[in-house]
Amino acid sequence: MPIYDYACGDCGHEFETLVRSGTTPECPTCHSRKLDKLLSVFATTTVSERTAPAMPSPCGSCPNAGGPGSCAFNS
Ligand SMILES: [Zn+2]
Repeated sequence: MPIYDYACGDCGHEFETLVRSGTTPECPTCHSRKLDKLLSVFATTTVSERTAPAMPSPCGSCPNAGGPGSCAFNS
């Protein structure tokens, strides 16, 4: 589910909330639904790039990656 940033049009409170399709978020402070949707500054692509190195480690630097002897096939 996407997370959106909103700024309340009534009290100015800024918050982020999960938004399901078909539902209307409301301000958690004053329960107004006069919300301005903010552009999210979170770049999800950088997170996925950071968590996907997927490069096999050289033998000298993988002591516990897959258990002892996990790098034996590199011979
Ligand atoms: Zn509000």
